[in-house]
Formats: sequence, structure tokens, C-alpha cells
Amino acid sequence: MAFETGLPRDQRAWVSWHDAFELAARRAKFAGALPLAAFDRLGAMLESGDGEVSARLTFSRGEEGVVQVAGECHAALALVCQRCLGGFTQHVDADFSMLLVDGEALIDRLDGDEEMEVVSDRIRPLDLIEDELIMALPLVPVHPDIADCDEPARRVLTPAPEL
Ligand SMILES: [Zn+2]
Repeated sequence: MAFETGLPRDQRAWVSWHDAFELAARRAKFAGALPLAAFDRLGAMLESGDGEVSARLTFSRGEEGVVQVAGECHAALALVCQRCLGGFTQHVDADFSMLLVDGEALIDRLDGDEEMEVVSDRIRPLDLIEDELIMALPLVPVHPDIADCDEPARRVLTPAPEL
């Protein structure tokens, strides 16, 4: 895997705890663009899987047995408005920071409210990014401005002017 210059060429690459620890020791950084088509779970929630996700991941060492991963991702996602069923583009930006923990036992020892992911076997960096994008999606996607909704839905939902 190449770092600094781009996300892993094999976006499906698995990272073992040992790998993650090595990445942290080197303060490895990934940055680059991934095709939206690489994200199966996210893709199922979108109107179209065209486009890219730009993402950055930085590994660093926390206390013993803990790897810190900081990341950010940006994407323009094609969603379906649940008010008018028209398509629209939602820009999603997510910043996150999480701890990778080697085994459940450590969790009790750590406090703080940082998100934790237990690396029981292996993880995929791609999954971390995908999880964050999914969490950043609106629960019920709708056109941010009702004026952008298709005409019939607007007529139903816009209150009639008072006479
Ligand atoms: Zn709409």
C-alpha cells in the first residue's frame, strides 16, 4: 500500500491489528479519491453511484494497544427527495476521529467519548469511510428548499395563502 500519495490501490484491502499498529507507528496518511462504486452499502442508498469520494485517513498511536485514526471525507451524493421523489445532490462532509482497540478488554480501561472500533480480526479502511458517509446522510432526504421540489408535491405541501 502506498501512503501520502494515495489511498490503497486495492480499496478492499484488509488491515490486521498488526498492520494498523505499524501504520500508526509510521503516522501513515492516506489521501485520495475513491469511486463511489467502491462503496456497496452506501451505493444502495443513492440514486446513482456515479462520482467520487475524496478522503483522508491519518493513523497515529494512542496509549498502549490503541491506534487513533483521524479522517475526513467529502462527496456529492445523488439522493432521492422523499417529498417529491425528485433527485438532488447533497454535499456531505464528515470529519471523524476514532480509536482502534486491540481487543474488548481494553475498552473498559479507556474513557472519553471517542468512537471505538474493536479490531477483533481485521478492518478495512474503506469501511471506516463508508460508515462515516452513511452516518452523515440525512435520515429523510428532502430538497433543502421546498421550492426545488417538483410541482405536484409543492402544491400539496405549501399552505394556501390566507384570504
Ligand atoms: Zn423534493
